[in-house]
Order: sequence, then C-alpha cells, then structure tokens
Amino acid sequence: MKTIGLIGGMSAESTVTYYKVINSVVNQKLGGFHSAKCLLYSVDFDEIERCQMSGEWEKSGEILADAARRLQKGGADFLVLCTNTMHKVAHAIQSAVSIPFLHIAEATARRVKDAGIGKVCLLGTAFTMEEGFYKDVLARNGIDVIVPDADDRKTVNDVIYGELCHGVIKDESRAKFVGIINKAAALGARGAILGCTEIGLLVGDGDITLPVFDTALIHAEEAALAALE
Ligand code: GLU
Repeated sequence: MKTIGLIGGMSAESTVTYYKVINSVVNQKLGGFHSAKCLLYSVDFDEIERCQMSGEWEKSGEILADAARRLQKGGADFLVLCTNTMHKVAHAIQSAVSIPFLHIAEATARRVKDAGIGKVCLLGTAFTMEEGFYKDVLARNGIDVIVPDADDRKTVNDVIYGELCHGVIKDESRAKFVGIINKAAALGARGAILGCTEIGLLVGDGDITLPVFDTALIHAEEAALAALE
C-alpha cells in the first residue's frame, strides 16, 4: 500500500471527511483491520485565509509547497490537497516535489464524464466559481459549467466561510443551496459539483434531484484507490 500525503486543515472540518473516507475505502477493499497509510500536514487555516483575502497567492503557495516538501520527506508517495480553492496554487505545490499530485478537479471531471454528463453547475468559493483555475480543468475535459448568478455566488461564498468552515450547519442555508442548484437545473445543468470540500457537510444526494458530485468524497475515494494500485 502506498502512503498518502494529505495537505489539510482548509478547513479542518472537511479534512475529517477525507480521513474517514480514505480509511473506509481501504477497509472495504482489504477487509479485516486494514486501514490507510497516510500522513497529514494540517495547516493553520487562518494564515491561508488571510492570504486569500489579501491576494497573496504566492505566499500561500509557498506555505503549501513547504507542507508538500515535509510530506515527501516524511515518506508520502503522492499528495492530496484537501481543498478546491487552494488548487489555484497547485503549480507551486507540484513544482516543489517529485511525487505525484492527485488534482481534485481532474478526479471530479473523470467522475462527471464517467456518468455521461456534459453540463454541470459548480458551487464553491467565489475564487472557484469565478476564476479560471478550476473551471478550465472541467472545460478541458469537455464539461460545460454553469455558475450561480452574482447574488447566489455571494450567498454560497458567505455560507462556506461564515458557517461551514466553522462547523455551523443550518437548515436555512441548506434550503438556499438546494434552491440555487434547482435554478441551475432549470438552465440545463445535469449534475451539481459540490466544488468546496465543506459543502457535503450541508447538502447531499438526498437533498437534490440532480446527480451530486461531492468533491471531498470523490477526491478521498480516488486517493484511497490510488494508494492500493
Ligand atoms: N475547503 C474549501 C474548498 O474546497 C474552502 C476553504 C478554502 O478556501 O480552502 O474550496
């Protein structure tokens, strides 16, 4: 079994999901007492969030590159960055190490394509919904992306940073997210990408009629399978 190197803590709430899912998939596959071999470097999210707000992406890239180097030194065979947003600096992380990097948008795009879906709505932080670094990966894989309108993007972003990253789960926010996804369905979306690793803590398959692609679950499952390859 390979050792998975997790760069987590963005936020700590969703890193818990990764740890649970990775161990559960490995145990399902191998049975008995088997669990995943993994190393976790969990950052202080306050440092990263400050860089996001001030636009210091190079600085946050260096913090995450440093985490990546430590994981490689510690024996990780490949890396998993447990957040969609910080894939904006994926290049800085990848170029700091020689071990492979399992990209969250690439893993998600594979699942969407396997489901035969060509048009999805994407919910995530404002960075993920508005900038190219994530949507371009989906587009390169032939997937059309609808993002919510400006008001709805603000709602989604505010709920992520104001509630979900602090472990606050509210029914009213769930209803808002469902409404936003239903609007996208009316515009032709055939699937919903939960493109922020905390959104799955709020909404899931049972809440939404469209097929749901929860990036935290997908990424963690792919990591576990890659460890067993
Ligand atoms: N976990 C989130 C994501 O998947 C948001 C927190 C962050 O900014 O890293 O994008």
